[in-house]
Parts: sequence; structure tokens; C-alpha cells
Amino acid sequence: MGQRRTQLPDSRTTPRFAGLVTFGRYPRLADVAPACAPVDWAVYGVPYDSGVTYRPGARFGPRAVREASQYLKAYSIEHDVDVLEVLSLADAGDAPVSPYHPKQTLDGVADFACEIGDPTHTKLLALGGDHSIAYANLRATHARHGGGSPLALLHFDSHLDTVDAVWGERYGHASPFIRAVEEGVVDPKRMLSIGIKGPLNTKRDLDYARDHGVTIVTAEQWRAGGASILDEFKARVGDAPTYLTIDIDVADPAYAPGTGTPSVGGFTSAELLGAIRLARGLNLVGADVVEVLPAMDVAEITALLAAHAAFEVLALDAVRRSTQH
Ligand code: MN
Ligand code: MN
Repeated sequence: MGQRRTQLPDSRTTPRFAGLVTFGRYPRLADVAPACAPVDWAVYGVPYDSGVTYRPGARFGPRAVREASQYLKAYSIEHDVDVLEVLSLADAGDAPVSPYHPKQTLDGVADFACEIGDPTHTKLLALGGDHSIAYANLRATHARHGGGSPLALLHFDSHLDTVDAVWGERYGHASPFIRAVEEGVVDPKRMLSIGIKGPLNTKRDLDYARDHGVTIVTAEQWRAGGASILDEFKARVGDAPTYLTIDIDVADPAYAPGTGTPSVGGFTSAELLGAIRLARGLNLVGADVVEVLPAMDVAEITALLAAHAAFEVLALDAVRRSTQH
């Protein structure tokens, strides 16, 4: 067994239910000795839900996901990789938010995220919060990669999130990717949305994807063999910097009841984790897991699924690194 790059309290002597709560029990970024190599991934929270169109409450998501993450373990049996042996990880705390001011908040989150860890090395995993925060983490991730070519985007969601504006607001949780494409942060022709399902407000909601080249795989198509579309996406994207965004409402409300815009007919927990694992090989440069609404959750199952989805993101990067060397 190799030397662990991130030292955690030994759960055989310090119980997982004791101590201050950070994601995965990872050290706080401020406590990671500066003499150490920069952390590979920093997890941070965005306790913000002023972008929602239906049920509020995802502002409490980061705390719930951190709490549910205390029982995460390090070795992925599916990928045969120990995440803590490959990656140096830390929790960077929460971004500043201003609940009455959407654009100001997202600008502030992006500024905060730009400064986390080593901007040229540390990758960012944001915990929402509603999905509008993906726009901020995408912007920061793109800027930290030099602000050049737009990023490829792998998107798990029941919803398209390419609506121009809702109630006159252009920075809500239905709009993060239309804004990111407009600003040259995401390449719509290398954007794949998996798990989309109806009913939609109108058939015209599909126009954006058709007109801009976004690929959509509905939940039904995924079950009928949509995984091959993910393989095509991986072949097309190759080694290009790719961002992974996971809206927990892609899972069925039976598996993720704690969310703001539940959509029936979604993935089981196992299907979601399995689908994320199929992204193995992509050059992930940033990610988020969003839309956990603890007040509507039951027995923490949504927060647990979100914590495990976040772990799978880290495992994807760990297995890619460990097989490259
Ligand atoms: Mn979404
Ligand atoms: Mn959604």
C-alpha cells in the first residue's frame, strides 16, 4: 500500500462521527502545510439558492453533503484506485454569498474560486447550492486554465438549464450553461446532457440544443443504450479539458427526494454512480454537485448520493492519473 497523500484521522481511533465536519474528513485547506505540494482538488461549498424556480432550501446543501460525506472511504473497488494515495485533497470552506443579489453572488463566488489553492494546479469541486453556481465555478475553472478554448461539458440533469431568463433573471438555475456558452467558457458542440426528461414547458425548450449543437440523451434513451453516446463524446473530446456538472435531480425522487425541482423517472443511485464511472478517461479539470435540498430529504439519502457522486468525480481523476504513470 502506498503512502497516503492526504492524511485523515484514523477512523479506527478517531470515530467518523467526531470532530469538526469537512468534506470527506479532508483537511481544511488553511491547515494544509504550505511546504506540501499544492492540493490536487479543493472541495468548497456555495450555500446559495436564490436562483431557484421552485422549492428553495439548497443553500443548506453544502452542510448536508459534508455531513453525509463523513462515511466516505478512500478505495474505489470499481476503479481499483485508492483516492487518497493518488490525490492531495482539502476542503476550502464556503464561498461568500449575497442571497438578495444573484449576479453579484456569482461574480463573488467566481472570484473566491479563482483564488483557491494553487490556481495553476488545484482543481475545484463545488458543492451547491442551486445549479446557477455552476456558472461561477465554470468561469473560475476556465480562467484558471488560461481562459483559452472553451471547456467541454458533461452534464447530468433532468433539466436542460439553457433557458435564457426566468422572471427576467438571467442568472438563475435554469440558465447557467446558456451564460457559460455566451461567455466562451463552454463549447456547446462539446456539451453532453444526460438524463433529460419531460415534460418540458414547451417543445421550443429543445431549440437551444439543436441550434447550438448540444447533445441530449434523455433518461429513456440512456436506458436503451445511451452509454454509447457517452463513448462517442469521449472519443470526440479526447484529452480536452472537460468539466463535469451533476444536478442531483437527475436521480429519481425515490432516490433523491431532497431537491428543489424533482423530476420523476430518473436514475437510481446505482445508475447514476455507474454513469459517472463511465466518464473514466476524460481529462476532468473541474466539477460540481448541486441542488441538494436537505429540508425535503429523507434519511439523508439525497445528501449521501451527492457525497458519493462527488467521490466518484475524485475517483475518476485518481484512476486517470494512476494509469497514466
Ligand atoms: Mn440543473
Ligand atoms: Mn435539474
